[in-house]
Amino acid sequence: MSFLLKNATLPDGTKADLAISDGLFVAAANLPKGHQVIDLGGKQVLPGLVDLHTHLREPGFEEAETVATGSASAVRGGFTAISAMANTSPVADTAGVVEQVFRLGQSAGLCDVFPIGAVTQGLNGLALSEIGAMADSAAQVRVFSDDGKCVFDPLLMRRALEYVKKFDGVIAQHAQEPLLTKDAQMNEGEVSALLGLKGWPAVAEEAIIARDVLLAEHTKSRLHICHLTTAGGVEIIRWAKARGIDVTAEVTPHHLLLTDDYAKDYDPIFKVNPPLRLESDVHALRAGLADGTIDIVATDHAPHSSESKDCEWAEASFGMVGLETALSIVIKTMVEPGLLDYQGVADRLSIAPAQIARYKNHGQSLTVGSVANLTVVDTAAKWIVDRDLMSTRSKNTPFHGFELPGVVTHTFFKGKLACGE
Ligand SMILES: [Zn+2]
Repeated sequence: MSFLLKNATLPDGTKADLAISDGLFVAAANLPKGHQVIDLGGKQVLPGLVDLHTHLREPGFEEAETVATGSASAVRGGFTAISAMANTSPVADTAGVVEQVFRLGQSAGLCDVFPIGAVTQGLNGLALSEIGAMADSAAQVRVFSDDGKCVFDPLLMRRALEYVKKFDGVIAQHAQEPLLTKDAQMNEGEVSALLGLKGWPAVAEEAIIARDVLLAEHTKSRLHICHLTTAGGVEIIRWAKARGIDVTAEVTPHHLLLTDDYAKDYDPIFKVNPPLRLESDVHALRAGLADGTIDIVATDHAPHSSESKDCEWAEASFGMVGLETALSIVIKTMVEPGLLDYQGVADRLSIAPAQIARYKNHGQSLTVGSVANLTVVDTAAKWIVDRDLMSTRSKNTPFHGFELPGVVTHTFFKGKLACGE
């Protein structure tokens, strides 16, 4: 398939026509006859978005999501690469499981699905998994995480950081001190006191971040902090970067917009790990993302079946779906207030995540010879989120009924139209 996309607005704000043929951006003069012409009418284009934190639930929890339905949800949201977290059943802790997920992604064929390997066997936190075998497998895993759980043992964390240096890998830490968060249900503060729910103090996140940036410094290895939620965490990352420590960090769209006030009605749609925090944290996260202290936005797309969300708060699962709303939330929280321009959006949602995970052919400039992974977004359009119209198999979006800016009109994956017409 060949396309001529007329009147595109590039991330730097300049206007151009983009030509795509045989999976690559080409010079318009080299387009074959019979190519399809799409007039974008000035719409914004971005390099295909890259998510470093996606729960796809396959194998094991296919009633909530599969690699195929998650891929469909991804391209609806403008993503051309997603990263399948390891907390499946079986856990992705061997070459066999990561290759299975990788192949499921290839057969879905809508976007790249890069498996993340577990750091410890069965996410048990006790013994390292087959990290080397996963790195050498067909899936060529470079990102390792026990996400959902924290790698709590500092010796194991040190060993993991040392191990992944061999192949330029990175450990992505879910920073949650387990003893300080035992039975915790939401952020520890006025709202948790009001609701009588066990709280989750900011220090439980910050203590692990502080420990691990020091371990990254000691091992001279690469550390990535998943879903930062507190102002104090932003300060620690800022300090670590100033010191030259090789650490990167992510924030989720929901933590850029929502606070624990939303939990006041005990609606478990707002129950998430790590929890929604305070207005002051939201402001610190936005400022950190704007100044580059926080490198990327990652969705932490966490599908759950209705049975595990439509119940009392204490029984409900933690997590929210996020692939189809991520870009709109970033536009609302970062672009509209003037904190990021679209070059910044391209960086935080595509270029930087691809760089952290070493994903080739993603986060590239939209120039002749690059693989044509591309997202088109109508930034002037608004839409109302309807959980029943989404492509994900699960309906646990906290944004149902929200009016959001920015409609993804086309997603091109390797030069093919994966979403849009
Ligand atoms: Zn997590």
